[in-house]
Parts: sequence; structure tokens; C-alpha cells
Amino acid sequence: MKIIINQVPAEGLYLEEEIESAQLDLDTALIKFRSPLKLAARITRITNALMVDLNMKAVIFADCSRCLSEFEWVFDKDIQLSYALDSSDVFIDLKPNIREEIILDYPIKPLCSLSCKGLCVKCGKNKNEGGCNCGST
Ligand SMILES: [Zn+2]
Ligand SMILES: [Zn+2]
Repeated sequence: MKIIINQVPAEGLYLEEEIESAQLDLDTALIKFRSPLKLAARITRITNALMVDLNMKAVIFADCSRCLSEFEWVFDKDIQLSYALDSSDVFIDLKPNIREEIILDYPIKPLCSLSCKGLCVKCGKNKNEGGCNCGST
């Protein structure tokens, strides 16, 4: 998302945009984006600064670090960004900040649920799906 500074009127500006997550290079070994990132920004200009109230939404799939199954996670985050403006600035590109803010929210150990029982250490069965027959409890 790029904001062209002289197109921000005194009363502010509301912008919506969808970015392909691939453009932001957000996937990791554990986390996959399956939808574009939806952005909604309310932009205000104050003398020498630009304030952006931004909402970001996306559907993310992650691998549970305990049971290894994939689960869906709806990412929804509000952030506020501010940029000091220089008279030579023509536009502000929010992309680097957006990327940073999303990555900050990545769990180190994603869990499908806080009560995930994980896999049986003996036979490898997913214990969330019921007990196993290998004799371990
Ligand atoms: Zn799990
Ligand atoms: Zn077992």
C-alpha cells in the first residue's frame, strides 16, 4: 500500500487494498497464507506527519507444533503507523512496516488449541482424535 502524500486531503483519506501475501514474502516453514492480505487504512495528515490507522486481515494456515496438523487462524490486527514527512517525499510505502507488524505476531510454537494433546510418543497417533491402542496412556 502506497500513499501519495499530496492526495491526502485535509479531512483525511480512507483506503482499502488487497495485497497478495506472496508479494510480502510472509510464508515460513510453519505458516502459510491462503488469502490475500486485506488492508483498510484511515490516513490523516498533520503538518509534517502522516498518521495511518490500519487494519490488516488474512487467513493463515499454520502447522501445530504439538500434533503437526494444519489449522486455520484468522489474523486480524489493528496498528497505528506514523511517518515524519520531508518536503521531498512524494509517497509513503507502508509495505515494510506491514510486513514487520505481521511477522511480530507470528507464534514461535503455533498450537491448534491451547489444550492440544499432541502425538503419542510411542505410536505417533494424534491424541486429539482419541486414545490409541499402543498401550501407552
Ligand atoms: Zn495440535
Ligand atoms: Zn500410542
